[in-house]
This record gives sequence, structure tokens and C-alpha cells, in this order.
Amino acid sequence: MAELQTTGVSGKVVIKNIGLLLSGDIDQPILDADTIVINDGLIVAVGKAKDCDQSHATTVIEAQQTCVCPGLIDSHVHPVFGDWTPRQNQLGWIESTMHGGVTTMVSAGEVHLPGRPKDIVGLKALAITAQRAFDNFRPGGVKVIAGAPIIEKGMVEQDFKDLADAGVTLLGEVGLGTVKAGNEAKEMVGWARKYGIQSTIHTGGPSVPGSGYIDKDTVLEADADVIGHINGGHTSLSEQHVCELCEKSSRAIEIVHNGNEKVAIAAAQAALQLKCPHRVILGTDGPAGSGVQPLGMLRMISLLSALGNIAPELVFCFATGNTARIRGLNCGLIEVGRAADFVFLDKAQHSAGSDMLDSITRGDLPGVGMVMIDGLVRCGRSRNTPPATRIPVVE
Ligand SMILES: [Zn+2]
Repeated sequence: MAELQTTGVSGKVVIKNIGLLLSGDIDQPILDADTIVINDGLIVAVGKAKDCDQSHATTVIEAQQTCVCPGLIDSHVHPVFGDWTPRQNQLGWIESTMHGGVTTMVSAGEVHLPGRPKDIVGLKALAITAQRAFDNFRPGGVKVIAGAPIIEKGMVEQDFKDLADAGVTLLGEVGLGTVKAGNEAKEMVGWARKYGIQSTIHTGGPSVPGSGYIDKDTVLEADADVIGHINGGHTSLSEQHVCELCEKSSRAIEIVHNGNEKVAIAAAQAALQLKCPHRVILGTDGPAGSGVQPLGMLRMISLLSALGNIAPELVFCFATGNTARIRGLNCGLIEVGRAADFVFLDKAQHSAGSDMLDSITRGDLPGVGMVMIDGLVRCGRSRNTPPATRIPVVE
């Protein structure tokens, strides 16, 4: 095996002999292709081997007929700084999650920071610092989109302009601060939107003692871009109210691991029935109360597919392309020009399933055999998933 390059730019990389290529695109989840060509971290060709220019590659990956899927995007995490979480007193949780196939994480607020500032200048400074810090530091290569301020009473339009001008692109979960009323949230969400900052609202019961309850009417009135953990984080609204949110709002339907699993399935099924599967995105809410969940995204995929009876190739789109489109990320889809962020999967050893997708419909987790970010191999056989039956080889 050649020496793996793990820093710098990838040069030309060819991935050949792909057995199954999941696109991340909910309108066409499986591609009729077996080869991907990458140049300096971006996809430059996707197709059949004979149609792709494979010459002069720096790195060739023999996929061994395994599945290649866009790297998973966790739409809802609570990072702090570095690869450390004070909530669970754990180091290395982001790198460990990369071993679960996650290549991008989106912050829903750096709320676990001990002594988190709640005054307006302090919360703005924290958001800008978090955005900068994670822009400069990628544990395990994972792209952490952070710097998501928790809005508080007293903020004015200029504050949102200041944040946007400083490079902040997200709001943390609306409702975790003092702004809990629908009309107040709506005004600030509107200011955020005006300056290109995307918003997410907490949905459901309080997450920990001291945090608040956000009901369906508040979610509808606030009209944030993402209905954050629609299945609760942890405690869910009633199934009826969740289905009403899916129907009456046109915003993203975010389903998380750290929530009510029964309602997770109901929300995903409601979206399919309403013919808006493109709105469904997945996250973990880690490392909140349910802890660090390195396999949380894979578990969500298995849950929605096996118990929710949704085709696994569609559910992978909830965890990749849907999120990329809704959050404006240049990853999550296998198409020319997108970042070469991939997870290589196969059915776990001794799974009863006939192949990787079948194993998921039976409730098993797949095995991760390799993770690539920006065309660079970040791990081979995962230390966290069950062992994949076949794994790719670097030639
Ligand atoms: Zn929450």
C-alpha cells in the first residue's frame, strides 16, 4: 500500500470498481457509475471506468465493489472548542464520529461552553471565535460549521448585521436563550435571514433543567429555516403536532438521534406522504444528554429504514444531499464540482442481509471501510462500526 497523504491537497485521485454509488440526490439516489475522479479535493468526473480519464493519478483507490456514499452530514451538534466536549467530559469525539462516516457537522450552538456569555457583546464574540476556531481546526478532517450564537432579548438588527459581516452563517437553536416567544423569535429570525444567517429553532420539551419548552405554535410563528429536532431533543411534541408542523410549515424537517424515536419515524413518513422528502435532514444533537454518538447518524439511517420502512437509499439522502442543499454546503452530493467527501460502506461481517442496503432494511448497521475528506483518506477500516465485509484498498 502506498503512503497515505493526509495533509495538503489531494492531487488527482481515482476511485475505481465501486459496487454501488449512492448520489445523495433524493431524485436519483443511485447512480449508474463505478468510477469517480478527483482533482485537488473536488470531484471532476463520475461515470463508467471506460469514460473516465484515469491517467496520472497520485492515488488510486480500488473500492473492491463496496458502496461509496457522500460523507454523512450531522445537521445538529453542540461543539465547544477543539475536539473536546465538557458535557460528557470527552476528548476526541469529533474524530471518533468521523469513524462513523460523518465528514461535516453543523453547530446548533456552542451552548455547552462552561460560563457561556449571555450578554450581547459576549455572545457575539463567542460566535465569531467559534466560527474562526473551527474554520482553522478540523479534528480528523471533519468540517465543523460552527459559530452559532444563541439569541437573547435585547438584540437589535445591527447585531445580526455585525455577525454576518464577521462571517457568522448560523444561529444556534432559537429558544435556548431568553428569546422564547414566537413574535420575538420571528423578528430576530427575520433579521438573521436578511443578512444571510440561517436559523434553527429548538422544538419540544426542555433539553436539560433550566432550558425551555417550545410548542408547535411558537415554531410556526418563529418560522426559522430549520425545525430543529422536530422529534424532540429529548422530549417530543405529540405526534399529531409534529405532523402538523410538517404540513403547515415549508421549512426543513430535522430529525435527531437524541430525540423520540417513534416520532422520528412519524415525521419522516409524514414528509414522504406530503411529497416533500427533500425537506428531511438528520442529526444527532450530540454530545447532549444522549452523549457522544459516533454511530448516531448510521443509527438514524438504520432506524428510519428498518422500522420506518423507508428505502435506505432515500434515507442516505436525508443524511447527505438534502442537508447540503438546505444548508448551502459544497458536499453531500456525488456531482462534478462538489467536495470529494465520501464514506465507503459494506454490509457488516455476518449480517443476515444479502447486501449493504438489504442489511440496513433488516436493522443492521453497515461497516465503514474508509472515509475520505477533500480527496484525502482520513481513516481505513473504522474502529467504531462493526467490521465491513469488504474494504477498499489504496493501490
Ligand atoms: Zn434543542
